[in-house]
Amino acid sequence: MDACPHCKSSWIGEPIPEEDQKLFNATHFKRMIGIEVRTLYDGVAVYQCPDCGKYSPVGDSKLEKSLFKALKEYMDEEISE
Ligand SMILES: [Zn+2]
Repeated sequence: MDACPHCKSSWIGEPIPEEDQKLFNATHFKRMIGIEVRTLYDGVAVYQCPDCGKYSPVGDSKLEKSLFKALKEYMDEEISE
């Protein structure tokens, strides 16, 4: 994903130096914040937009969407407690 689905802000950041592009497997840094919830999933489960602060699934697959749903429910519980 290259842009926020909520505010449409671009997540493409600074260019990565050519010698490091292989390391990151990308040509530009991304600006969104990857959120990990180790109790649910070992890896980034959700992206947070650096501009509007809203959360999005990391992709369109069923797994990514269900992870997002689980994480949202988890966070809602944490906040309301
Ligand atoms: Zn946004």
